[in-house]
Amino acid sequence: MNSICFIDRDGVINEMVDRGEIRGGDGRLLRYSAPWRYSEFRLQPGVREALIKLGRLGFLRIVVTNQPDLAYGRLLSEDHALMMSGLARLPLEDIYICPHPSSEGCYCHKPKPGMLLAAARKWHGDLSRSFIIGDTRSDIGAGRAAGCKTILVRAPYNQGLEADFYADDLFGAALLIRQLLEGGYNDFIHRHG
Ligand SMILES: [Mg+2]
Ligand SMILES: [Zn+2]
Repeated sequence: MNSICFIDRDGVINEMVDRGEIRGGDGRLLRYSAPWRYSEFRLQPGVREALIKLGRLGFLRIVVTNQPDLAYGRLLSEDHALMMSGLARLPLEDIYICPHPSSEGCYCHKPKPGMLLAAARKWHGDLSRSFIIGDTRSDIGAGRAAGCKTILVRAPYNQGLEADFYADDLFGAALLIRQLLEGGYNDFIHRHG
């Protein structure tokens, strides 16, 4: 069985875009959004190094990303394809994308665990020894629903959100996981998790 690091995309691998104030696809006001144009797509610092570190620690690295802006018409499929080809150049084992709006009730849209469960089946993942690294309630919810440990990447828009662990960015999350494993954490979650 494999340990998997599920990794959210927007706000973890690439920067969120500060829009000032906009209305989200679901009508809520928000300030930060995912990039809608490829020109807005910027990797966060240390992402490649973090992924390499997670690989050396024995994790499969699998992106799980909601992209509802495809359905809302804010993200064009050409821009989406360019961003995902940027992602494909990173050291990742797999990429799962939910292109549906949350209102559609699909099984894959985080906080539902569909993408995590599908990946665990395909890659023989042991979810109790796996992590999700994300920046929103949806990521933490999906990780909990799948039985993973959750790491929240702190950001101005997620203050007060609770997770098992916290990090400043993906690189910080990789360092944290290394510390946890060195401290025997994996044995612990194997026995009790
Ligand atoms: Mg995100
Ligand atoms: Zn979906």
